[in-house]
Amino acid sequence: MKISPSIRNNLFTNSHPTGCEMSVIDQINNIKKEVAFDGPKNVLVIGGSSGYGLATRIGLAVGCNANTINVSFESGPKGKRSGTAGFWNNAAFQKHISTKNNTHKDFLGDAFSNEMKEAVVAYALREFGTIDLVVYSVASGARKNADTGEVVFSKIKSLGKDVIGKTVDIVDNTVHELTVTGADEQEIKDTVYVMGGSDWKNWITILDKNNLLSEQAKTIAYTYIGGETTKAIYRDGTLGKAKEDLEETTKYLNQLLEAKYHGEALVSSSKAVATKASIYIPQMPIYVACLYDVMVKEGVHETIEGHKYRLFKDMVYGSKRIIDEKGRIRLDHLELSDAVQDKTKSLMMQVTDAEIKDLDGYKLFVKDLYNLNGFRNDKVVYDADVNIEELNRVYDYTRI
Ligand code: NAD
Repeated sequence: MKISPSIRNNLFTNSHPTGCEMSVIDQINNIKKEVAFDGPKNVLVIGGSSGYGLATRIGLAVGCNANTINVSFESGPKGKRSGTAGFWNNAAFQKHISTKNNTHKDFLGDAFSNEMKEAVVAYALREFGTIDLVVYSVASGARKNADTGEVVFSKIKSLGKDVIGKTVDIVDNTVHELTVTGADEQEIKDTVYVMGGSDWKNWITILDKNNLLSEQAKTIAYTYIGGETTKAIYRDGTLGKAKEDLEETTKYLNQLLEAKYHGEALVSSSKAVATKASIYIPQMPIYVACLYDVMVKEGVHETIEGHKYRLFKDMVYGSKRIIDEKGRIRLDHLELSDAVQDKTKSLMMQVTDAEIKDLDGYKLFVKDLYNLNGFRNDKVVYDADVNIEELNRVYDYTRI
């Protein structure tokens, strides 16, 4: 079977297993070049199949030889469907993570559900005994209420006035206006329910009740703050409200972990990178393209895995923590430096809609989006057949 990208309304509807595999190999090899550090032995990553969660899993499995459990919501191939990129990332991780005497387990299914939490608890009690670090890296558009069965959807909206920004069609590279309307109270509440801190709290509660957290256990979740140009839609919008809730949850979890385990709960603000969602947030594609352009030229552009490796080596388990007045770890200090922000802002103002496609930063942003789904990877021969069934057969996971 040959697979070429299928993109509808800027959304990839398929993925390329070999391309995903190549990019996981690259991430693993990049961390192998870094120095090892003393970190957690047993790690649970919730949302570890792509983006920041996958980068975290690789950073910790390679960087400090950790055992990992990954919970992710991914589908395998079925009929003409190729399977999701996260599914193939998981399969590639399992195939290439050649750490010695380590255990890496994948659970596929809904992290919000009670069944998933119970299955992970049972496995961890049996195989790990205790967990040293819990990473919460879920990004989802919907959450099924585990008690009522109701499905709640998050909304990318502003608060109050409509906000107009730009987005890019990644197929023909044209710029379009994108308007987000003001959210009502229910939409804010729903977005906080899906993307806020309550499920993270549920995970820590069930792990605590089952005595699964080790002495000095830590937990961390990822937030985004961003600069002035994305403020109206991100930080001052529904997603920002959800992130405020996530950050507030850290305080509660920190008290629990500190008192009972001499541990800690942390929240870290990561830099903006290309993800499935970034294209639907007005201004975000233009901002990320210009930001990449500036950060590459300034010599401060990091790979996603390099970013997370630095988080754990220097800031979570090291002595170089950068903390702001709200207690958040500011891993995004390079993105948000005055120099980078000023240059990004002036580039955004200067560049015309027609010129965007010629920016090196834009090309990198679009390449990242294709790469996320296994496409446009220089190491893949896309004319070659992919034996999806065979790849699927050798990947071992538990579906809940
Ligand atoms: P992503 O889409 O690449 O990954 C999301 C992960 O969540 C995947 O592993 C997916 O399988 C999992 N997931 C989604 N729904 C699930 C469910 N119901 N059950 C189990 N797993 C589920 O997202 P990302 O960009 O890596 O974002 C991860 C976190 O980092 C989010 O909290 C996001 O807000 C934050 N963050 C992202 C950026 C950015 O620019 N991408 C910047 C700062 C912070």
